[in-house]
Amino acid sequence: MIKYDAIFLDRDGTINFDPGFVQNVDQFKFYDFAFPALKVLSQHGNNFCIISNQSGVGRGLIDISDLRELNAFIRREFINNQINLLDIYNCTDHPNEATNRRKPGTGMFLEAADDHDIELKRCLMIGDSERDLIPAHFLGMDTMLVLTGNGHLTLDNIAPSDKPTFVVENILEGAKMLVKKFI
Ligand SMILES: [Mg+2]
Repeated sequence: MIKYDAIFLDRDGTINFDPGFVQNVDQFKFYDFAFPALKVLSQHGNNFCIISNQSGVGRGLIDISDLRELNAFIRREFINNQINLLDIYNCTDHPNEATNRRKPGTGMFLEAADDHDIELKRCLMIGDSERDLIPAHFLGMDTMLVLTGNGHLTLDNIAPSDKPTFVVENILEGAKMLVKKFI
């Protein structure tokens, strides 16, 4: 397939349950369909980056060491499933003092492009919130809205200018659709 230089993944509500703020590994649970989806895409040559706002750190709700431990857990799970995770980017800014790193800012995407020599115009962003779609759209990427997490709410409220390229029930349905469409 390899239509995309890289596939960017939102985290909460896209590849794992979103209970509000995931504070540590114990509260983190991948959706059952997440790795089957990533395997389908991975087998067709795609690489992944996770791009996730984690304002819980800036709000004092999440300990940065717990977030690091969670990231190490996520990396191990990707390795165990033989999926090429290029990197994990988190923005820990409090929303009231947000830099351009915090989605819908483009900062984390630009960092990833620089770190891994990624051509953003040849990428896809998969997420459940408008703030996942806005920066991706701005950067010329394809966008996929999943109807897990905040997905339904997002679909009901999205600005016509940020209409996603694809809308799918969940990331597994999205993966199957992409393979069918581009293989
Ligand atoms: Mg999300």
